[in-house]
Amino acid sequence: MREPSPEALRAAASGAEPPMPALEVLSAHKTYPNGTIALQPVELTVQEGEFITLLGPSGCGKSTLLKMVAGLLPPTDGRLLLWRKPVQQLDETGRRMAFVFQSPTLMPWATVAANVRLPLDLAGVPRAQAEQRVQDALALVGLARFAAALPRNLSGGMQMRVSIARSLVVQPQLLLMDEPFGALDEITRHKLDAELLSLWREKKLTVIFVTHSIHEAVFLSTRVVMMAARPGRIVEEITIDEPYPRTPDFMVTPRFAQYARQLQDSLLRASQDTEEAL
Ligand code: ADP
Ligand code: MG
Repeated sequence: MREPSPEALRAAASGAEPPMPALEVLSAHKTYPNGTIALQPVELTVQEGEFITLLGPSGCGKSTLLKMVAGLLPPTDGRLLLWRKPVQQLDETGRRMAFVFQSPTLMPWATVAANVRLPLDLAGVPRAQAEQRVQDALALVGLARFAAALPRNLSGGMQMRVSIARSLVVQPQLLLMDEPFGALDEITRHKLDAELLSLWREKKLTVIFVTHSIHEAVFLSTRVVMMAARPGRIVEEITIDEPYPRTPDFMVTPRFAQYARQLQDSLLRASQDTEEAL
């Protein structure tokens, strides 16, 4: 029998469950068929309940990594485990994952409610049950009154909320978000950041989030994973050791500025690595 780890012993003594890794990336790498090395072997562990942000210059493999985690793209070699099972066997764990893309990709001809219901329709969930879950998801993103609206009559921020509701309707435990607020104006983005943090806490989600924004990364994350390009790789991990809830007041504190500076320096180093590799 294996010796229990010190963490497990401590957790047992305190009566708390030991932390469970939601994601383990074990030497996964990706070379596209045209020969582009998008990612060198990556090692990354994400514990349940973390809010991880991937930050780095364009082309450093953020989207590639996220798609491999989602099972949308097979690694060239290496392994990705979700709750200790290979990504492809996610169903067997009884856990769920959802992916939010940068553009809301809504069906223009369908109502907000029908757009949000789509994953449930595809999964064959009975209509009455589906309707209830759609209502709950719309309420979570503050769009309960817009169920019958068409996407084109909503602002960009509201369309993104619909997209988030569509991901929440499957009641995911892991949320993968690829620059979800990148196309929105600053004020709307701050608002959605704050809403996302509330959701993350309330639903005890694990989130892996991609952004170009240093401020967004500091505000949201428990940990920031810095990547460099050509070839894509992880170069640094920075823990944002700040309590939640984090309010907009956090953004005007010296500690926030310190973290932003630290990430700025790290990003600069990652970008220089990238240029030298060109
Ligand atoms: P990021 O999301 O960080 O901008 P990507 O994961 O999109 O980076 O891309 C990583 C690298 O892989 C880039 O050099 C990009 O041009 C390349 N790449 C992405 N998708 C493909 C593809 N389907 N075929 C070939 N190369 C690709
Ligand atoms: Mg990308």
